[in-house]
Amino acid sequence: QARAAAEQAQGVAVTRDGRQVHVAANVGSAAEAEAAARAGADGVGLLRSEFLFLGRAAAPTRDAQQREYAAALAALGGKPVIVRLLDIGADKQLDYLTLPAAPNPALGERGIRLWRAFPELFDTQLEALLLAGSEVADAAQTTLPLRLMLPMVSDVGELRWVRQRLVACATALGITRLPALGVMIEVPSAALCAASLAREADFFSIGTNDLTQYALAMDREVAALAAHCDVLHPGVLRLIQATLDGAAGHCPVGVCGAAAGDPLAALLLVAMGVDELSLEPAGIAGLKASLRALDTAALDARVPELLALDDGAAVRAALTTWLDTPA
Ligand code: PEP
Ligand code: MG
Repeated sequence: QARAAAEQAQGVAVTRDGRQVHVAANVGSAAEAEAAARAGADGVGLLRSEFLFLGRAAAPTRDAQQREYAAALAALGGKPVIVRLLDIGADKQLDYLTLPAAPNPALGERGIRLWRAFPELFDTQLEALLLAGSEVADAAQTTLPLRLMLPMVSDVGELRWVRQRLVACATALGITRLPALGVMIEVPSAALCAASLAREADFFSIGTNDLTQYALAMDREVAALAAHCDVLHPGVLRLIQATLDGAAGHCPVGVCGAAAGDPLAALLLVAMGVDELSLEPAGIAGLKASLRALDTAALDARVPELLALDDGAAVRAALTTWLDTPA
């Protein structure tokens, strides 16, 4: 029985109507990546690299970073590993880095916007990633398992700029095989301008935590707003729909925010067209089981009804009823 459960967790998730969904893990270290592989992850959809930088007196060296990234890649044995470049600012702070003062840190210089203030910090991380990616690469694989993702992108200029840095760092290191470069969609402008980003990004990953915070203008850290700060609010769902429409035919779309681990939201996101869900490893086996029971086409047909509802609570109620009623 235990073996059957392990096989279920490790197997691919195919919905009742034949859609294959990639179920990946959110991790903060190579050790967590190993645990995720054991839990059945089809890859790592979000390695929050800032965890390597937290709780220390100084930033980790290039060598130390390279070892950690290479270990995470090795743990997944050739499956894709998406590393998010350092995402600090707002709710994520480092003791040894004094960030530019901002009256509202959530709207200040954070994520990829900090590159210009700390170019060495980001270039060192890029170099460590490029070295780890080529160290672990298998010459027979056409695409590198390592993929890089940029946090807090608000327009295509930021992606272009990082791609230039990536090419410059790779050239300096003599590395010719470059990892895929994707963007997180977690700022409303990125969702609304998804078509322009999709022409140049290799993939999208929707960060529903921040996308919800910015769409609803509700701080994700304020407990009193938590019940209303809901990814299933029709306004947030419309931004997700805009992202999928913009990406269609250009680049795959994943979700790595907490919505991927929310049973109702996760199934809706897949029905709307999301290709990958990335969540805490403990939820992977259960999510794969729910996906195997899902008819995505039937649920997708009802998305317009959901978008017309009043608020997140109404969407939750409707989804609960539909998903509990066998087709
Ligand atoms: C998100 O914003 O949804 C996300 C995945 O990033 P983080 O929670 O680390 O900000
Ligand atoms: Mg985020």
